[in-house]
Amino acid sequence: MAHPLAYLFESPSPINLRHVPFSPDLTALVIGPHPDDFDAMAVTLRLVLHRGVSLVALIFRAGSGVPAWFASLRPAMTPTAIREDEQRASCEAFGLAEDALIFLDFDRDPYGELREDSANFDRLAHFVRQFQPDLVFLPHGEDTHPTHRCVARLFRRTAETLQRPMVAFWSRDPKTQRIRVDAFTPFDTGEAEWKARLLRFHASQHWRNVETRRMGLDERIFSVNRQTARALKCGFPYAEAFELEFFPGPSANGLLTSGREAAGHGVQPASEPMSDRPPLRHAEGSE
Ligand SMILES: [Zn+2]
Repeated sequence: MAHPLAYLFESPSPINLRHVPFSPDLTALVIGPHPDDFDAMAVTLRLVLHRGVSLVALIFRAGSGVPAWFASLRPAMTPTAIREDEQRASCEAFGLAEDALIFLDFDRDPYGELREDSANFDRLAHFVRQFQPDLVFLPHGEDTHPTHRCVARLFRRTAETLQRPMVAFWSRDPKTQRIRVDAFTPFDTGEAEWKARLLRFHASQHWRNVETRRMGLDERIFSVNRQTARALKCGFPYAEAFELEFFPGPSANGLLTSGREAAGHGVQPASEPMSDRPPLRHAEGSE
């Protein structure tokens, strides 16, 4: 019987994730450095969930990015509680089980950004090891946001210590600077409307984006999803994009080792470049 991750190791890229036979034996972990990172990849996460994969979301508590006027509308709540509330509402609408949504507190510096310290590493490692995921979804580390970069580094250090094979799905979002598109999930306007409803639960972020960028959070995400779909010429108006990274675990068998090497040397960038910069090399080790 084929290993449940074999398709991801053996398929030429970019892989259309709708064609992947995700096994219900798998466990997927979503790591959200902020409330709303989950929703930016919601179409893919729903696809995985509907295949029977166990889905757990670890969301880092954050109170950043809540406009003062918006916070004043809910004086009994802290900005952190407002954002947690928004994520809970969105995940309920998504269909995530209540006990599958976990909020975590991490040490932050005086500017509110995550610290790359041993306490934060230990916290993240504890939860990743607890769930022993086969698939992990999180924002790409080549990103302008320092907390996204920090979470990526903490996660990669954790992943290299895991005792089983795992695939990381590094998600493209509006702040991603460069990405090699190894996998994508195309979607139509009906699914875009569903995804927009989820994103609009993050009202604090919607209005911050309207004020600072003159577009809602949903439009900001969709601009990236449209650009991805155009670059891939996938025949759909939108697509979520991921770079895959394979962590074989210490007891990798031949399949996983050869598969990872194949991915590292055989992956091609999207048919149109996502940026002017060269595609990211197959990442191994810490940045
Ligand atoms: Zn984020």
